[in-house]
Amino acid sequence: MFEDRTKRTEISELGEFGLIDHLTKSIELSQESSQYGIGDDAAVINPDGKKVLISTDLLVEGIHFDLTYVPLKHLGYKAVVVNLSDIAAMNALPTQITVSIALSNRFSLEAVEELYEGIKLACKRYNVDLVGGDTTSSKSGLVISISVIGLANENDIVYRKGAKAGDILCVSGDLGAAYAGLLVLEREKSEFTANPEMQPQLDGLDYILERQLKPEARVDMMKIFKEAGVKPTSMMDVSDGLASEIKHLCKQSDLGCTVYEDKLPIDQQTWDTARSFDMDPTMMALNGGEDYELVYTISQDDYEKVKTVKQIIFVGYMTEASAGINLITKNNVSAPITAQGWDGLNKDRGRES
Ligand code: ADP
Ligand code: MG
Repeated sequence: MFEDRTKRTEISELGEFGLIDHLTKSIELSQESSQYGIGDDAAVINPDGKKVLISTDLLVEGIHFDLTYVPLKHLGYKAVVVNLSDIAAMNALPTQITVSIALSNRFSLEAVEELYEGIKLACKRYNVDLVGGDTTSSKSGLVISISVIGLANENDIVYRKGAKAGDILCVSGDLGAAYAGLLVLEREKSEFTANPEMQPQLDGLDYILERQLKPEARVDMMKIFKEAGVKPTSMMDVSDGLASEIKHLCKQSDLGCTVYEDKLPIDQQTWDTARSFDMDPTMMALNGGEDYELVYTISQDDYEKVKTVKQIIFVGYMTEASAGINLITKNNVSAPITAQGWDGLNKDRGRES
């Protein structure tokens, strides 16, 4: 739908090396730790006394993304961002990525250029260097695997484990918007398939569409914690949905937790979209995926330091494991949270992480 069909250059005209050269010739390095980038058998990173963090994500066409409504430039941007988010979730700074792609002959040079536009834009926006990758062909669609390297002082790293009973459970921003955006895109896709004359109904939905198509990684939270003078006791990013992530935090710290429904941050567009699909906005905030906000715990002792920081949003607190994982509803009723994560909402998409 979005691909520019005006010009089409076959990748076979360039060959693998020609393609790699074409895509990477303008890449410059900006991180001090990037000692050597693209062009040899391996990149060289100089961590200069820091700990090195590494994380990888694999994205497969038809499983993790649908090119009928995801523009390739957005896909490239998002593929980088979801990796950066994993490093941000460790309270570390992402510094380098490698990008590996498998392409079927359906993809033209122009299409791959679009993908790389998005990848390079994310690198620029987050000051991350593209230092290598791999390129190969595929028989079925597009596969993208990105690995990210991050650096941190040992004492700054925050794990999923480490929370204590009584710690405050917080999130960095509003929830459910990316899933609301996905619902709208899927609806428009099916309406377009049924009637190609139909104009998409996307007015007034820019926020949730952007949250789905062009999410951002909360690499800014590291500085916010530092400025507030706190270090979270545990943390992870919200990729599968808050309910599912909370379960991980509880399991790894051997705790339970209580979440307050009226404290869950939900944007008005998310709210309205949930209603228009006959869904409960709270369920969308708890179980919608791909928000890429951070969920973390802060010690009660640090309450005074963080109570006025707007990116530190209290949604509940940690309890003993025996209390379980519960939602206190707006009617003040306690109900166990079942982590359906992403799959419970959308069984057709085999998203795993
Ligand atoms: P090798 O034979 O060792 O796999 P390649 O010829 O595949 O090397 O890659 C040459 C250089 O280009 C390497 O530095 C590699 O990291 C980089 N590279 C290959 N594919 C990509 C890609 N899709 N994006 C960025 N860099 C790439
Ligand atoms: Mg190679």
